[in-house]
Amino acid sequence: MTMHEDVAEVLLEASAIQHKVAEIGQAITRDYQGKDLGLICILKGAVVFMSDLIRHIQLPVTLDFMAISSYGAGTKSSGVVRILKDLDHPIEGQHILIVEDIVDTGLTLRYLVENLRSRRPASLKVCTLLDKPSRRRVECVPDYNGFQIPDCFVVGYGLDYNERYRNLPYIGVLKPEVYQRG
Ligand code: 5GP
Repeated sequence: MTMHEDVAEVLLEASAIQHKVAEIGQAITRDYQGKDLGLICILKGAVVFMSDLIRHIQLPVTLDFMAISSYGAGTKSSGVVRILKDLDHPIEGQHILIVEDIVDTGLTLRYLVENLRSRRPASLKVCTLLDKPSRRRVECVPDYNGFQIPDCFVVGYGLDYNERYRNLPYIGVLKPEVYQRG
């Protein structure tokens, strides 16, 4: 049984994702001209997006990583956000861009933005690959976003189900029997 056989539908092909990531990188390069940029990758889901994105940003960048709890092993947002790994370095006075895989209810990003804003960066913006606007519970509009997607649970390109499928090069929806397997 391969990972690909568990996928019911490919929502975004690898080539479409690559094209969009390049466009976002170019927009960031334009918008931050003449500045240094600190990128904060939200582990683990954004790690694939981040590593592709930075190669399309033609600016001096630094990278840091933060891990927070989100869905645990299930597919529903708990609304409870907890820092599992904090940044290695302070961000005061720096231009900071949060790089996140997906904004769903918005609870995670709202928490992150509030938390990071209190550390007094020079500026703070949000870049997401995917947005599910229909599921929003708190207002949250990413400054950069790749694709708006319908209300369905997706995996691939960094996103997991039970820690698996992160290495799929595309974004897809799993077959219902995968969830029944547990
Ligand atoms: P929010 O707090 O906006 O509801 O959820 C954000 C987090 O939930 C994301 O960083 C991601 O980890 C997880 N998430 C939301 N939707 C999906 C999805 O469709 N697939 C996967 N794998 N994770 C999701």
